[in-house]
Amino acid sequence: MKAFDVAIAGGGLIGATIAFELARAGLDVALFDRQQPGEGSSWAAAGILSPAPENAGMISTVPLGRASLQLYPEFVATVEEVSDQSVGYRARGTLEALFSTDAQEKLSTIIALHHGLGLKAEPVSADDACEMEPALSPELEAAVFRPDEACVDNRALTKAVLAAAERSGVKLFAGSNVQSIAEDGVRCAGLMVNGEKVESRWTVIAAGCCSAEIEGAADYAPIRPAKGQMIALRATDLSIQRVLWSDHVYLVPRNDGRIIAGATVEYVGFEKNVTVGGLQKIITAALQLAPALADAQLEETWAGLRPDAPDHLPIIGPTDLDGLLIATGHFRSGILLAPITAQLIREWITMQNVSLDWARFSPMRFGEMARATNS
Ligand SMILES: Cc1cc2nc3c(=O)[nH]c(=O)nc-3n(C[C@H](O)[C@H](O)[C@H](O)COP(=O)(O)OP(=O)(O)OC[C@H]3O[C@@H](n4cnc5c(N)ncnc54)[C@H](O)[C@@H]3O)c2cc1C
Repeated sequence: MKAFDVAIAGGGLIGATIAFELARAGLDVALFDRQQPGEGSSWAAAGILSPAPENAGMISTVPLGRASLQLYPEFVATVEEVSDQSVGYRARGTLEALFSTDAQEKLSTIIALHHGLGLKAEPVSADDACEMEPALSPELEAAVFRPDEACVDNRALTKAVLAAAERSGVKLFAGSNVQSIAEDGVRCAGLMVNGEKVESRWTVIAAGCCSAEIEGAADYAPIRPAKGQMIALRATDLSIQRVLWSDHVYLVPRNDGRIIAGATVEYVGFEKNVTVGGLQKIITAALQLAPALADAQLEETWAGLRPDAPDHLPIIGPTDLDGLLIATGHFRSGILLAPITAQLIREWITMQNVSLDWARFSPMRFGEMARATNS
């Protein structure tokens, strides 16, 4: 097989966006996926573009999320132009409904936290929230509007990025199982794919929740799958304009009229069964948030596997093996973080310098963790 400037393992949104970005920078790129590209986590997601941290442990990802959200309008415009496909981007903000009796106190805390992190967030009264989104339950006590946040149809986006990458010269290899990285003395010289060596100056592991299965990558990408169950609803007499959240569920409108609701977070290995208990949780919380959904049709159910690192943070950057980079572990935010991940990897490969501090996300941190535990 021919040699490439860059060989990428994994054709999900992360690998495809990196491939697209590098091809546009003039590099000869090969993208390998062991199944049909774009059918992993990137297919299963909800497509919410929110850099707001879900808990204190995620605060370090906020600068990454903010930077990526800013890149989105141009990213979408470029992908749509090159692929000639629409990706269902909706930049209308998100609305979080608070139901608890201490909602006002919670509201002040959320607003202060967001402003402290440089994120836009506005308090909204219950009446105003119901006027903005009439599907919301009148039982809510208060709401938070995040005007900068958005959503995208992640299935359409992944398909379009793959098409745009191919049109930009990326060689796409479906059904190509990456078994290991190929070491050449002290450097990474490419990948072993279906028993054959593929040579490359740069190699990127972007195989989502299966990254640790690639021999030679596990120490840098000790990823495990975090299953999420989802449903798609269709309601003819009800319209939702923005992403709606509560503590227990989110509702994401699509341009085709579907409403996506999710999601569970389960550590059950690689199984993707949809369960009665999982669906019950989502449906109960969805009806509390928007009771009129009771008349909606249940159109689809599915489950996907999020790539999750031990500290739940993304793994992006070079390793101590010359030529080998990692781009995985995006957990619940890979759709949001795809553009910034691709930009950083492109900057490193073309300039050995990046425009954003990514030390916290280094693939080398797991070796350091192990050394710290053993000393
Ligand atoms: C239910 C759910 C809801 C989510 N909601 C959101 C959301 O609202 N917003 C958000 O930003 N993120 C969300 N996410 C997270 C997001 O989907 C992921 O972080 C992101 O899709 C990861 O992309 P990826 O390209 O790394 O992985 P994937 O899309 O899984 O792609 C990895 C690819 O690698 C291939 N592969 C694996 N092993 C090999 C191998 N050995 N050789 C060759 N190819 C291989 C696979 O076939 C696959 O195509 C959600 C995820 C789930 C599951």
